[in-house]
Amino acid sequence: MKGVEWGVLYNRFKDTLYDTKAIEEETAKLIADDDVDKKSGIYPYILTRDERYLGIRAFSDNMRQKVYERQNGVCVICKKNFDILEMEADHITPWREGGKTIESNCQMLCKDDNRRKSGK
Ligand SMILES: [Zn+2]
Repeated sequence: MKGVEWGVLYNRFKDTLYDTKAIEEETAKLIADDDVDKKSGIYPYILTRDERYLGIRAFSDNMRQKVYERQNGVCVICKKNFDILEMEADHITPWREGGKTIESNCQMLCKDDNRRKSGK
């Protein structure tokens, strides 16, 4: 985060920063979370609730391959067959609901369904 951007965020959200204890606790939890890749994004995330600041860890190629084989190349949503390059790994339980970036929480979706699911 550059200083300027941080200042903008601070001015926008400073009035909501009343419960410092809760923020301290959440910060400690996020620092300890292996799935949070960008620790420098923790404050911007707390201010904006935009998960993109945290760089939530993506599934590894190894996990993607295993899950793809387990699903026999079939998309969980549309039930059609795809090449692994046409699919994307998805958190079954979203990270913000406590889901981890581990194989058992991974499903492979075709790109169209993944885009629809994540609302992008
Ligand atoms: Zn699909």
